[in-house]
Amino acid sequence: MNTATTTTYPNTRLLIAGEWADATGGKTLPVVNPATGQEIGRVAHASIADLDRALAAAQRGFDAWRNTSAHERSAVMRRAAALLRERADGIARLLTQEQGKPLAEARGEVLAGADIIDWFADEGRRVYGRIVPSRNLAAQQIVLKEPVGPVAAFTPWNFPINQMVRKMGAALATGCSFLVKAPEETPASPAALVQAFVDAGIPAGTLGLVFGNPAEISNHLIASPIIRKVTFTGSTPVGKQLAALAGQHMKRVTMELGGHAPVIVAEDADVALAVKAAGAAKFRNAGQVCISPTRFLVHNSLREAFAQALVKHAEGLKLGDGLAEGTTIGPLANPRRVTAMAKIMEDARAKGAKVATGGERVGSAGNFFAPTVLTDVPLNADIFNNEPFGPVAAVRGFDTLDEAIAEANRLPYGLAGYAFTKSIKTAHVLSQRLELGMLWVNQPALPSAEMPFGGVKDSGYGSEGGPEAMEAYLVTKAVSILGI
Ligand code: NAD
Repeated sequence: MNTATTTTYPNTRLLIAGEWADATGGKTLPVVNPATGQEIGRVAHASIADLDRALAAAQRGFDAWRNTSAHERSAVMRRAAALLRERADGIARLLTQEQGKPLAEARGEVLAGADIIDWFADEGRRVYGRIVPSRNLAAQQIVLKEPVGPVAAFTPWNFPINQMVRKMGAALATGCSFLVKAPEETPASPAALVQAFVDAGIPAGTLGLVFGNPAEISNHLIASPIIRKVTFTGSTPVGKQLAALAGQHMKRVTMELGGHAPVIVAEDADVALAVKAAGAAKFRNAGQVCISPTRFLVHNSLREAFAQALVKHAEGLKLGDGLAEGTTIGPLANPRRVTAMAKIMEDARAKGAKVATGGERVGSAGNFFAPTVLTDVPLNADIFNNEPFGPVAAVRGFDTLDEAIAEANRLPYGLAGYAFTKSIKTAHVLSQRLELGMLWVNQPALPSAEMPFGGVKDSGYGSEGGPEAMEAYLVTKAVSILGI
């Protein structure tokens, strides 16, 4: 297995009212490198008093930011994006050490983050209202689009930068302040992202960063009258809890939750392309991706050839410490995922699935799990029903497209999906009938800032890309002015 020596890693503090601070009382949590199992740093654990200071600052930050012109806001955001690019190598090393993904993936995440910020910075200059012809010629009817207010955001550990910029980009571009509880397990890279905005000149309080007890923080922030909008990325069960809490307090909500992406490989598909594209998407970030392909539904005439090629792809990956040269798949981000993989494997074996490759933990230090392909997976296997969130591909055959569509739509999830076909008709039918928020045909996932990003059904609501992402942070005011 590929190994590397850990380089320097900082302790992370809270950003409250534009100042980095320890938690009152000095409480901290450990940060562990998933490749070694060793503690590499500490992160501040906010108290309720810290949260109250952060809330008051978010209100002041909102007052300052909403009164900053869209042009100037855009300039600050673009400066932050440029700083991120300049610092990409250093931030990527932090990200790999705390999260595990290979350095090249980490660097790609930072650069993609800068790109997303730029896109939202530009989009923020085009938030238009409208003038509506009035029935009374002496009156003017105006529709104004205004920032919703201070935002509370909750972001996860699988893409510590990317999941945050999608929310932050839209919130800041529309004039909202943004108070984020970033992941305690991967705190330094989001702190470096926030630092880029501080250095770019964002007003104090417009951006706040806290860590601590997730349930305590979400309960406190969502209930606060200062917070006007809640946005969460994470698991469906937690998302449902937070959406219910937000409902009690009548807060606007965006929920980007779990998925269980079907990959439909149709009878006329290019198998080599399907394996290359879906294989790359499957094992990226060791499968800990909400849009990761998870249910491979392959036409029975291609099933054997597809499974063999996917096994070859999985066996060609280089598992190791993400900092080591040549690593193409890193460890799982935390020991919970290794336990989850072991349970998935035990269940699949017991129900008759065949382990075509992998299926085991690798080594005893760190959270390494072999890239795995399961074939002949029965529909009642746990992996075909619950989001695996790990490096396991499960393959099943089908005979008719209707059968594949029914299976794809069977689960309560509806986030991403993939299809491989040379037929325009099949692509069209799938785009009409699949219950998903996103579909990629004949390619791996390519989520861009300009395209909507989000799910349907239990995968959540609201979008984190495209103009729809801006709408999520805007409220509409109808004004009618009668000339005197
Ligand atoms: P989890 O369900 O406990 O936590 C998921 C995320 O939600 C974490 O970032 C956590 O800090 C946060 N969280 C948990 N309880 C919270 C609360 N009460 N208030 C605010 N935030 C809260 O599980 P986990 O072990 O961290 O992750 C496992 C599962 O989460 C995965 O199997 C996957 O389904 C899902 N997940 C999804 C995404 C995504 O991109 N949609 C990202 C990370 C995790």
